[in-house]
Amino acid sequence: MELTRRKFLTTSLIYAAVLALARTAEADAAILKASELVKKIIEGQESPVHLVWIQGQACSGDTIALLNAVEPSLVDVLIGQVQGVPPVELNYHPTVMPQWGVDHLEGPEGPTAKAWDANSIIDQASSGALDPFVLIVEGSIPAEDEPKAAGGYYCSIGERDEHIYYMEDVLKDLASRAAAVVAIGTCATFGGIPHGAPNPTGARGVYDVLGRGWKSALGLPVINVPGCPAAGDWQVKTLAHLLLTVKGLLPPPELDEEHRPVFLYGETVHDTCSRGAYFGLGQFSKKYGEPLCMFALGCKGPIVHCPMNKTGFVEGVGMCTEYGSPCIGCTEPDFPDAPLAPFLKELPTFLLPAEVAAPEAPKAEAAIAGSGLIGLFAGAAAGYYLARRKEGGSEEGGE
Ligand code: SF4
Ligand code: SF4
Repeated sequence: MELTRRKFLTTSLIYAAVLALARTAEADAAILKASELVKKIIEGQESPVHLVWIQGQACSGDTIALLNAVEPSLVDVLIGQVQGVPPVELNYHPTVMPQWGVDHLEGPEGPTAKAWDANSIIDQASSGALDPFVLIVEGSIPAEDEPKAAGGYYCSIGERDEHIYYMEDVLKDLASRAAAVVAIGTCATFGGIPHGAPNPTGARGVYDVLGRGWKSALGLPVINVPGCPAAGDWQVKTLAHLLLTVKGLLPPPELDEEHRPVFLYGETVHDTCSRGAYFGLGQFSKKYGEPLCMFALGCKGPIVHCPMNKTGFVEGVGMCTEYGSPCIGCTEPDFPDAPLAPFLKELPTFLLPAEVAAPEAPKAEAAIAGSGLIGLFAGAAAGYYLARRKEGGSEEGGE
């Protein structure tokens, strides 16, 4: 009886998620894929959800941040210590998995070394042997057309028998099977630093490679967890939520227009900044180390969505504006270009939200108007760059 109830609940939630999120034209295909996945989940309620983590153009900062997660920690998730979160297997992660190229481990055991070939895990995921799996992407994805034509590549994640595992191809291939796709860090979400002008490799975020209207096997869009790097707790909280979604125990997280979970990115840095009262009073720090609002030092907090002031970076410690550093907007699609750059120049008033640009206190109004005048030239430049900003956000694909 209990199993029947759980099956019904699982099926209902997954279909509800699919029906709510699949676009009409794609609904039939999405429902078909979801029904196959639901069948697999129901046939083995305790089977693990597999995680496949691939890295493109990145500094591995998100991986380092992940290892610092505490609420919950990665280890707690992997050994099943988080109540309600289903068992997980981290099958592929280029930084923390033991597997490497087959040559490295080939020895007297001969063919058994194949089992240690990291590339074979990608092949397994591609063939369905790891279903259901969540695909996690760290780092941006370069456009490979030009390097391929020249016989090279910008970003490969492996090679075997002269076959190159191009990051772009692996992403598209695995995404076509994945129960959910999560982009971690600003490089994977929006292109990040590799995407900054002049973007020589054509770097893009996952949702610009797959298309903003793209849906996973469960009918979910790409889920973005930006940050440079994204704090470990933001990563693990989002992944834990998705694991419950994949198991049919939670509806998908609500996302904002940039596909960021609202439970994390629903407020601006300014909304949650302990220096906000000084902003309202028009009291601005003139140099680093002063305790006042840092808008005049170039803080972009009023237009940036980021939970850092609520969560801290590790164990509630390490908030940017709290600790005296102006926010540079690393969770936003335009980062590291205008209007977030130049980082240490204040925003012109016309880019500020109305409630911030026209606060009730007359003193603040005058102060902000003054800062707007100072920023007028910067504003004109920002407008120029905005018109050319971040191209490639198509509905169906970024190519
Ligand atoms: S402008 Fe920056 S420092 Fe000032 S209150 Fe807003 S977020 Fe805090
Ligand atoms: S507060 Fe600003 S600079 Fe700090 S992590 Fe958030 S978006 Fe990045």
